[in-house]
Amino acid sequence: MLKNYLWVNDGNIKVAFTEKDRKFAKETSAGLKKAIKLLSKYFLLKKIFPPVRAVLVPNRKEYDRLVKGLLKVDIEQPSDPSRIAQPQRTDLVLLAPFAYSTDSIYKYSAREYKRLLVHEATHMFEEYLSPNMETSPRWWGEGLAVYISEQWKYEDEFIPPVIEGIRNKNIPTIKEIQKSVKLAYRWGWTIVKYIEHLYGQKMILNIVINCDDGNVIKITGKTIKDFERGWKKYLQNEKGFWEFM
Ligand SMILES: [Zn+2]
Repeated sequence: MLKNYLWVNDGNIKVAFTEKDRKFAKETSAGLKKAIKLLSKYFLLKKIFPPVRAVLVPNRKEYDRLVKGLLKVDIEQPSDPSRIAQPQRTDLVLLAPFAYSTDSIYKYSAREYKRLLVHEATHMFEEYLSPNMETSPRWWGEGLAVYISEQWKYEDEFIPPVIEGIRNKNIPTIKEIQKSVKLAYRWGWTIVKYIEHLYGQKMILNIVINCDDGNVIKITGKTIKDFERGWKKYLQNEKGFWEFM
């Protein structure tokens, strides 16, 4: 499956690549190393995270071949140009940045690429720590990944729609966020941020390790109704939610 690939090998991180992506292979390896360090600290990991294997693919066709063949993840063919990374356990398929201009909707930026690697590594950590990943809600997984990678702070697709929703009094309910992929990406991180604000990072870890039925809010000890009221208040309170701006 990876016959024609070259490899960069750095201890617990292996990156496969084709010759023209050599530069990005090193960048990917270094970025993943940093990401794993950051996440091991965030999730108070006592053991060393298992070895990670990333594959930098040169084009969309190869991306689809490996997501299906190597990761065994079902994907539409050809996959959507917004897809550039797919993790599964400790494997990660990445569209090489050289292919972004033709095969994706993104432009490469070194900083965004680093954040993308933290985002994807967060999914790996959640899967590694979760007692029942199958039930983990999308808003929670994506919320964690967007929040911990700090994509929410710097990338246009996160803060502007939230500000707009608050201004137009159009904040979705938690139920709506649970049901919609789009809302899960847009709003999930605000719920994670609220939980961290209320209970600290330990509660995030507590939920990741103990939530085995998808009912994230239950672990905080609040009813969805109470939780939602507090979260909405937090979003509207400039001194609380927006203090970073
Ligand atoms: Zn994600």
